[in-house]
Amino acid sequence: MSSSTTKTTEGVIACPECDYLHRVEELPAGAKALCVRCAAVLYRHIPRSLERATALYAAALLLFLLANAFPIIALDVGGRVEQTHLISAAGAFLRHDMAELGVLVFLTSVLFPLVTIAGTLYVLLAVQAGWRAPGRAVAYRLVRAVAPWSLVGVFMLGLLVAVVKLLDLATVVPGVSLYAYAGLLVVVAAASANLDEGVIWPRLHHPGIPLPSLGSARQHGLVGCHVCALVSPADVGASCPRCASPLHARKHDAIVRTWALVVSAALLFIPANLYPVMTVTRLGRGEPNTILSGVVELIANGMWPLALLVFFASIVVPVAKLGVLSFLLVSVQRSSPWRPRDRTLLFRVTEVVGAWSMVDVFLVAILAALVRMDALALVVPGIGVTFFAAVVVLTMLAAHSFDPRLIWDHAEPRP
Ligand SMILES: [Zn+2]
Ligand SMILES: [Zn+2]
Repeated sequence: MSSSTTKTTEGVIACPECDYLHRVEELPAGAKALCVRCAAVLYRHIPRSLERATALYAAALLLFLLANAFPIIALDVGGRVEQTHLISAAGAFLRHDMAELGVLVFLTSVLFPLVTIAGTLYVLLAVQAGWRAPGRAVAYRLVRAVAPWSLVGVFMLGLLVAVVKLLDLATVVPGVSLYAYAGLLVVVAAASANLDEGVIWPRLHHPGIPLPSLGSARQHGLVGCHVCALVSPADVGASCPRCASPLHARKHDAIVRTWALVVSAALLFIPANLYPVMTVTRLGRGEPNTILSGVVELIANGMWPLALLVFFASIVVPVAKLGVLSFLLVSVQRSSPWRPRDRTLLFRVTEVVGAWSMVDVFLVAILAALVRMDALALVVPGIGVTFFAAVVVLTMLAAHSFDPRLIWDHAEPRP
């Protein structure tokens, strides 16, 4: 690197999690660059990423369409067969006058996965064809916004739990769509692992401004874009000059907003556990179950692994998430210099794990969609699942509104 480039922001990126500036260097194939301060993954070098990711996202789109076109599962109770499509999980809540949950399940299991896959494919094709499509940046921002809410894997887990729960009640016949959906999970994971974002937003070709030393972006009056990684002067305006995403040196009102969401989620967690999440009726008999009594029933039926899974996803994860976020908020408010790297890691884990709590909501949706044979067998969702879904959504929003860069603001020397 020549001395003229080492003194400007050209080829410089700011770590999205701790704001530390790094100079982008050429990496060997397959390698990834980690932040020297907080160990977040900054960028990767994946050879032929554009071609590979395009092919994989195209395959994912095909599998997604297949998964939605055919029945995912059929239930055989004493010769009476009910077929269920993927989309009927959302429809089950609508039938029980729980439209808001129907919308939530539809968005997270159908629409957002579709937007994520089709949007990424569109962006990759646009890059490959060299289109100067104005929609490219918009599409990519949309993908980045909805991707955390695209819960294909969580839905699949809910489906597997539902199947295991139903095994003693009926014969479960897997449909074409189930295989397509399982394939989709694998292909989507491979596709995102093969996507090197540097092919969408080249990191080395933006005009540099003088930068005598590294440090945090904020110390130099700079701000890094969270979508395209461009580093700009903080006074450039409210949006990124390259991709037009909103820029914020620190997320606006992050602490107040996150506290409000954490407290609301904690309050709603009480009715979520007091009210029944569903009623399973077999041959006219059945009692409403809360989350906890459902776990106890699973244990009584000898389904230990399932009981542990539901207990972990529905009780342990939300409680731990609220506890961790509160701890991080208090530590930031007290300007604590305590182990910033570990606190950032804690935040990262919280952000990833939180979505898996949705498994209980999907489980109720799938059971209600599958088991509707009136007198023979019937699953009716209870009001508790509405409160619980609200808890999951609020904790996810809380994690998104927190800004991990705040953890580092007190860990670095003043400029
Ligand atoms: Zn970092
Ligand atoms: Zn940008």
